[in-house]
Amino acid sequence: QNYKSVALIVGVTGIVGSSLAQVLTLPDTPNGPWKVYGVARRPRPSWFAKTPLQYIQLDVSNTQETISKLSLLTDITHVFYVSWIGSEDCELNAVMFKNILDSVIPNSPNLQHISLQTGSKHYFGIFEEGSQIKPHESPFVEDVPRLPVQNFYHDLEDILYEETSKHGLTWSVHRPALVFGFSPCSMMNIVSTLSVYAVICKHENKPLVYPGSKGSWNCYVDCVDADLIAEHHIWATVDPKAKNQVLNCTNGDVFKWKHIWKALAEEFGLEMIGYIEGKEQESMAELMKDKDSVWYEIVKKHNLVPTKLKEIAAFWFADIAFSAVDLVSSTTKNRELGFLGFRNTMKSFSSCIDKMRTYRFIP
Ligand code: NAD
Repeated sequence: QNYKSVALIVGVTGIVGSSLAQVLTLPDTPNGPWKVYGVARRPRPSWFAKTPLQYIQLDVSNTQETISKLSLLTDITHVFYVSWIGSEDCELNAVMFKNILDSVIPNSPNLQHISLQTGSKHYFGIFEEGSQIKPHESPFVEDVPRLPVQNFYHDLEDILYEETSKHGLTWSVHRPALVFGFSPCSMMNIVSTLSVYAVICKHENKPLVYPGSKGSWNCYVDCVDADLIAEHHIWATVDPKAKNQVLNCTNGDVFKWKHIWKALAEEFGLEMIGYIEGKEQESMAELMKDKDSVWYEIVKKHNLVPTKLKEIAAFWFADIAFSAVDLVSSTTKNRELGFLGFRNTMKSFSSCIDKMRTYRFIP
């Protein structure tokens, strides 16, 4: 086949990487037909076997391994960097990104564009030190100054700016809000986390009790469907107006956790108990800490794709989501530049659950 563009997706099994792989390989995707290389750390998962791409298992934090495997690829035109090491360590995350660019830039003469995904944490600081940092006031706009905190997003951006300007490439930085997606191989998948929580409640004949704070129950939040982020990345490879821009990425609407909680209870046929006045936030990570064997039983009972509880659910991440308030990003710049994509958040939530059911990650 004659390809118009050749993508390297770094983090292809992740929440956005897996959506990008699916969207890029559709017949009508802009700039296509696309040939797709996908890099991830683990062996190719069985659920990912049918996506038409060349899968490269590789530890990107290992410089030698990255150079030896990726310098063989000479036809890459676009890099989509949708990965992180799984900790906020600036040095490790920077090494990963630098290893990719050092392997690809000298060997792919047709390389045009590097698309980097960071996130709205840019505006409120990192998780580890979040509480000590005064966040920017929402709605977050792209051109506010960096917060005075070490954040690996800053390191990634600096590497991006330096390398693309040195080599005459274009770039885009995508800052998604909380992501709704289906991958069970993500380190932060809120939909799979909440679904697994609901499935465990169902298995144990318990109601679905909201463990979060009062503030989080009542405030507006935004999120973004992983397929929409994929479209946003692809748009930036096509439209000259999106080149060399930093852009937020959200569904374009807002929601409240109380809406999602009701939808979650309905999806799994559970009695719902919302926020109870006066109740302190309870940690979901704490509530779920001894449930590994319960999840193992559920997987066996329903003949699901085997996953470990700690892989498919990030309860620590739900704890952060259910304590945060006032985190909404502006999407005006996208519309000004011509990106009009949007999703209905409630539909996105149930379609991610449907997809997880279809893939047999959850019953
Ligand atoms: P993810 O956790 O869903 O997936 C990470 C991917 O990177 C996986 O494919 C994994 O195999 C791969 N990976 C990790 N370490 C690797 C290594 N050493 N070698 C090779 N592959 C490796 O990722 P994500 O959530 O899409 O995160 C990407 C960026 O998006 C991060 O900067 C994150 O902070 C940001 N973000 C995520 C969310 C969210 O809700 N998940 C929201 C906003 C921003």
